[in-house]
Amino acid sequence: MWESIQSMCLHVVFILFTILIYQVFFNEREERRKKIKSKFFLFMLIILTFTMSQPVHHFEIYKYDFKAVVIILSFLYGGKRAGFASFLALLITGYFTDQKIFVLLGNYLIFCLLLLPVSKWFHKYRLKGKVIVVSLFYLTIPVTRAVFLQLRGDDRETFFELSSSLIILATLIAIIYLIENMNEQIEMRQELIKAEKLNVVSQLAASVAHEIRNPMTSVRGFMQLMQKENLTKEQQLYISISIEELDRAQEIINQYLALAKPQTDQYETIDLTSVIKQSIDVMHSYAILNSIHISQDVEPSLKIEGLKLEIQQVLINIIKNAIEAIKSEGEIWISAAKNAKGFISIQIKDNGVGLTQDQIKKLGSPYYSTKEKGTGLGLTVCHQIIKQMGGHITIKSELQKGTCFTINLPSK
Ligand code: ADP
Ligand code: MG
Repeated sequence: MWESIQSMCLHVVFILFTILIYQVFFNEREERRKKIKSKFFLFMLIILTFTMSQPVHHFEIYKYDFKAVVIILSFLYGGKRAGFASFLALLITGYFTDQKIFVLLGNYLIFCLLLLPVSKWFHKYRLKGKVIVVSLFYLTIPVTRAVFLQLRGDDRETFFELSSSLIILATLIAIIYLIENMNEQIEMRQELIKAEKLNVVSQLAASVAHEIRNPMTSVRGFMQLMQKENLTKEQQLYISISIEELDRAQEIINQYLALAKPQTDQYETIDLTSVIKQSIDVMHSYAILNSIHISQDVEPSLKIEGLKLEIQQVLINIIKNAIEAIKSEGEIWISAAKNAKGFISIQIKDNGVGLTQDQIKKLGSPYYSTKEKGTGLGLTVCHQIIKQMGGHITIKSELQKGTCFTINLPSK
């Protein structure tokens, strides 16, 4: 008995330690995660060989090991390729450790096929949901087997089956906690770095923008005065171009200032439906200029809490981006509706150039722009404004097909 507990502890500690090493040394950088899938598989292989070559002896007669843990983890965290690779490794190790190869093949093939759909929606859940999903999935097999054994009147074996399954399940849950916790920390650190960057930008912005705005206003005023003089056509043209450029600069400065000043205290209830319609009207001529048709489907009387100018700025920014992504001839669909959870979701969809997964990740960090005259501030401001209103923006996109921005806001 004592020996079996000792050997079990050794297994659990070995598995946890291996996972820990993987998490600490190899799971740090997100951009390297893809390559890391193969490393994850290598670590799984180490665990698999160890656990199958040194199974735990339970009451001298029975033996069990943790190969189920390896298969489940490979599918859930390594993807289906790592999953099936582990399955293959399991068969090979099984062959060399004199296990019944056809029983292994049959049992674990079913196991793998069942894991395929589970691994797809597993990541949508939060930690608790994940633990429940894995527990339910893992327990169905030993419980049905135990019921079957009990019906045959095999008490000892039933007890053994259930007790070893519980130990394996507990180990599995501990590992999931470990991995999820560490992943959460990595994500938090990345968020923090992003927020810190934003903080520096907005502090700088506030001071610089403020200083520049005043002289610019006076320059613009004098230019306008000069326009009234008797000037040649060419001179008139130069002055109006200068004023346009000044306005552009002013717009950029305003975006910086919007970054710097969160104004939650002046929030009021606003009629979102009319704000959306107004924003579409504002962008209408710009769209027509590029032969783009905007179609809309906005529910009447949607209400939110916020600042009208800010939400308008968000909508205009995103619609402008959509138009610029199409370049010429295309369609933009704008819809807004309240959903069952009390959130209003505004969708702005275009059939423009689209974005890669990598680009989507970079969107919203200051200065990321693919345009010659772009500032990369538009979306940064959008994200910040919507976050302040208690909402969030999600982006779905496919290269060459189009992009869909969804703004979710709590309804009033
Ligand atoms: P800017 O428009 O000044 O470049 P933004 O923050 O508004 O800055 O946008 C950042 C980048 O995001 C753009 O340069 C563009 O590459 C990309 N982008 C934004 N919206 C879309 C869209 N609807 N389709 C494709 N790319 C987009
Ligand atoms: Mg933009």
